[in-house]
Amino acid sequence: MIQKITRKSLLYKSNVEYGNWTINHVSGCMHGCKFPCYAYMLSKRFGRTKDYNDWRKPKLVANALQILEKEIKRYGKELDLVHLCFMTDPFMYDSEKEALVPEVLDMTLKIIKRLNREGIRVTTLTKGVYPDNLLSRQLMPDNEYGITLVSLQEKFRKEFEPFSASYQKRIQYLKNLYDSGAKTWISIEPYPTPNLDPGSVNIVKLLERVSFVDKIIFGKMNYNIDVSKFKSNNNFYKTKAGEVINFCKKNNIQYHIKAGTPYSSKDTESIFQN
Ligand code: SF4
Repeated sequence: MIQKITRKSLLYKSNVEYGNWTINHVSGCMHGCKFPCYAYMLSKRFGRTKDYNDWRKPKLVANALQILEKEIKRYGKELDLVHLCFMTDPFMYDSEKEALVPEVLDMTLKIIKRLNREGIRVTTLTKGVYPDNLLSRQLMPDNEYGITLVSLQEKFRKEFEPFSASYQKRIQYLKNLYDSGAKTWISIEPYPTPNLDPGSVNIVKLLERVSFVDKIIFGKMNYNIDVSKFKSNNNFYKTKAGEVINFCKKNNIQYHIKAGTPYSSKDTESIFQN
């Protein structure tokens, strides 16, 4: 049974260039990524998480819907697009049970439904999987569902995203959503250098696996000392970002290269503003 906490506020303006508002209705994340995870580092710095094991024991914000109700009234028309989530995973996967964490899933779906009822679009991003019946829940057709995919090598996943869903599963569930008519996207971030994942030299192979998506975000790996040990990392990221752009142009996929990565441009920051 997942632990519960309460909070005083829920919605806040995102500082990520392609998002507007965000909600993190869970503290911590079972996926325990080791890129390292920026959310974990921040939580630890501000004393919200004791250590890695504590981070991997998620705590659900039990009063999330009550706060949301008040904040929808407070922010009104300012609320146009909400991203779930930057500091946790909205479709959290329990790798031991090989299933979504039911309490997190339930709250995520209630939040999306409530926002959609107000005409507010939602984008989601996960390293878990999407539930089978997501589109039968009367959600807005303009929501956009994404997965993070930075490699196709399970060896890399086991080292850096040890408790997430397998790449194969993530892709399959996203493809199911696409086949049902949903809008889909991929976050290829943080992309590893070849000393961390030899397979990263062939980004086209990864892109071809997900060529059905509407949008792609690409970004380099930050906060990892091994990236700077890879001597020509700037050239590497230049080449890979160029390949992403070419692939997207050829396949009519919208893209954004994140700030700080070669070929990043402000012109594509509004990728999620329909
Ligand atoms: S899925 Fe996201 S929030 Fe969760 S541990 Fe991994 S990087 Fe951190």
